[in-house]
Amino acid sequence: MRNISPIALSLLLLTFAASSVAAPKNIIVMVGDGMGPSHVTGYRHMQHTSGEVKPTILDELLVGWSSTHPDDDTIVTDSASSATALATGHKTCNLSIAMDCNDRPLKTLFQKAKQHGKWTGIAVTSQVNHATPAPFYAHSPTRHQLNEIADQLVDNRVNEQLPVDVILGGGVQFFVREDRNLVEELKAEGYQYADSWKSLNKLDRAPALGLLAKVALPSALESPVPDPLATLTDRALQLLSKNEKGFVLVVEGSQIDWCSHANDIACAMAEMDDFAAAVTVARDFVDAHPDTLLVITGDHETGGLSLGANNQYHWHPHVIRGVKLTANTLSDRLLKTKRWQRAWQKHTGIELDEEEQSALSQARSAGKEELATAIKDIINRRSHTGWTSHGHTAVDVPIMAYGAGSERFHGFVDNADIGARLMEAIGD
Ligand SMILES: [Zn+2]
Repeated sequence: MRNISPIALSLLLLTFAASSVAAPKNIIVMVGDGMGPSHVTGYRHMQHTSGEVKPTILDELLVGWSSTHPDDDTIVTDSASSATALATGHKTCNLSIAMDCNDRPLKTLFQKAKQHGKWTGIAVTSQVNHATPAPFYAHSPTRHQLNEIADQLVDNRVNEQLPVDVILGGGVQFFVREDRNLVEELKAEGYQYADSWKSLNKLDRAPALGLLAKVALPSALESPVPDPLATLTDRALQLLSKNEKGFVLVVEGSQIDWCSHANDIACAMAEMDDFAAAVTVARDFVDAHPDTLLVITGDHETGGLSLGANNQYHWHPHVIRGVKLTANTLSDRLLKTKRWQRAWQKHTGIELDEEEQSALSQARSAGKEELATAIKDIINRRSHTGWTSHGHTAVDVPIMAYGAGSERFHGFVDNADIGARLMEAIGD
């Protein structure tokens, strides 16, 4: 080293730097839709029943924070705009799917992955053409063009190849239509097809399409199978990992957002539980395949969730643990039976006081929507859960990362920079 010239030394250092950021073979991107900091904290305390409060897998993988504002002056993003940032590395306006605010298409992570010979996949509990998965494979001026977005799973080719090799989630209604049958078109392209949880297990090679519901999958709280997202994630990894050149998989915990829009805490925490189970599946995959990068974030926070409300210095996860149905389903059950108090007790474990009984009884006569609201009011009040909105908020979201190249996601990273660094991780 004594005689080494400064130029040789810098070349040597550059070589070291380049080798330490070698492109990972596989990339797994996981999005908790609507998952803000309070959702992560709430999930931790939901897991905790006695003794010391322990970190969850989400805490263990935490590396940073992300801002989510869109490319206009609203500060509060929707899922289309924030998913576009993650999928393309560019900010855009709300509603846009992988297009800028002037409707010019933006190159997506999946397009780049395909150019590198990688396989691509999505595993979601919403319909597969919903706002968060869509910008990874489609371009549209608005997320509301659901049929046109689904069409692009067949039409939007990269080097003659279809854009997504493994498609798992819901959405039959958008695939089997009067004007087109995308299921048949994809089958003709060589896709294996599953339309139930049972047949999902039979998918044994990519390309593969699994549409397990007409629109979205049932809420995790009411799912016929335990940990639905974790199950989809596991299947997607099994199929995609057969490619020698690697893959990019996008996993979305879609309904954390929907439960939070509804201000339904039991529903939201069940979704967090399923999302964390999916993260465990992904983390285990990285442990077995260390040339894999895992990046997890929220696309925005939903609901302005607060743990502790109305000046109370308490939050009561045990109340939430007792609730076995979403308020939406529970309201149907209570409307169907005269012995609604017994049904309430069975599905919530909450002993009603007189005031609550009369509030529920009145709401029951007023109709389903009023009853669902009254149900959530009681559960939120009993657990001291607060919500400031039925929409999204602009608070920063956590970033978790693990595996090959994960250090690139440490610290404060804007959502478009997360997207840009994912693009870089694929290589030149
Ligand atoms: Zn939302």
